[in-house]
Amino acid sequence: MNCPECGAPETLCQMRFDEFLALEFTDAGYGAIHHLTVTAYMIQHSSKLTREGWLHERELLREFLVENKPPAFIRKQNRDLVDSGKRTFKIKSRDGKPVINKTSWTKTILNVRTENAEVYCADVSAWARAVLEDAETIKI
Ligand SMILES: [Zn+2]
Repeated sequence: MNCPECGAPETLCQMRFDEFLALEFTDAGYGAIHHLTVTAYMIQHSSKLTREGWLHERELLREFLVENKPPAFIRKQNRDLVDSGKRTFKIKSRDGKPVINKTSWTKTILNVRTENAEVYCADVSAWARAVLEDAETIKI
């Protein structure tokens, strides 16, 4: 069965995501792109998010890719928002219902090759850019 959210064959996406996180945590060359891996994956798997959470992740991806904001800066900004009580919505959802209605994407996590850190980072970036382009056409 294909993943009902990103369309990856045999729902290999979850396994691949877990492998990638392990790789990113053990090798800094791969870890350099961790923020894109997580954000792109979450946007494609909206059942893990609330509606506000999904919109937040899409905005985050735009900030990374279009505005070139460094992840550390965004993390701090985010923390300040939470600490100051300005962010009142929940990001994660446990009800398992997708908040977007999209099952076919230009690229999925399965398009990412891992033979070395350079190829990996280039492929994750290309996947994340494709996710942003697709996501920007979605109205929720
Ligand atoms: Zn999937």
